Amino acid sequence: MSPKPAAATNLRPTPTVEDYLLNMFVMERDHGEIVAARLAELLGVAPATVTMTLKRMQRDNWITGKSGGSGIHLTASGRAAADSVIRRHMLTEWLLVKILKVPYAQIHAEAHNIEHALSPQIEERLNDILGSPQVCPHGNPFPGCESATQAWIPLDKIAPGEPVIIRRIHEFAENKQDLLDFLIANGVLPGAQVRVTEVLPFNQTLTLDVSGLPVTLGLQVARFIFVEELPEGL
Ligand SMILES: [Zn+2]
Ligand SMILES: [Zn+2]
Repeated sequence: MSPKPAAATNLRPTPTVEDYLLNMFVMERDHGEIVAARLAELLGVAPATVTMTLKRMQRDNWITGKSGGSGIHLTASGRAAADSVIRRHMLTEWLLVKILKVPYAQIHAEAHNIEHALSPQIEERLNDILGSPQVCPHGNPFPGCESATQAWIPLDKIAPGEPVIIRRIHEFAENKQDLLDFLIANGVLPGAQVRVTEVLPFNQTLTLDVSGLPVTLGLQVARFIFVEELPEGL
């Protein structure tokens, strides 16, 4: 009796699979599981396409669980591949913004085109040149560096009046170009000091003071922006 042949896990995943892995990693990290319906939304593809890709990914041993709905998890090799593509994505974002001086609004989308092509050697070079960053330019943690962001609190949990510093625009928000453009245009960016001035739960909005200007966000969006609390009196 010969053992079941090992799945082809040494192969580098295709760019499509890498995009799935990247989103799956974030979902599993934040919610403990991967939901197919949510993936379709995030990737902007039809649910039937997701179902098909999940089947392939299961066959190739990137994921376990039912391919149809919930209960999907990354396998060890799926996690390693996700780690790798996320690292390449984040390093590329830094390369673009820091070295190539590409406008901040464009780095996430541009990085998505480039990340798949980086070799391990270039990845290592980049990491060295950039000084082994722990978070991407949007403040999201490199895999394994999650503790760097643990003290940051979602903006919708902040009481009015408290001065806070924006630290992080979550992966699922930097993903939405129109939202990102709005945040940039209004100065709601990592490093900015802001204050919540008003919360209207019935309206599902909160208003920020950003350098003297009011900026209103939906609570749904505020959940994806993380801040660091400052000592009072600043
Ligand atoms: Zn990004
Ligand atoms: Zn980023």
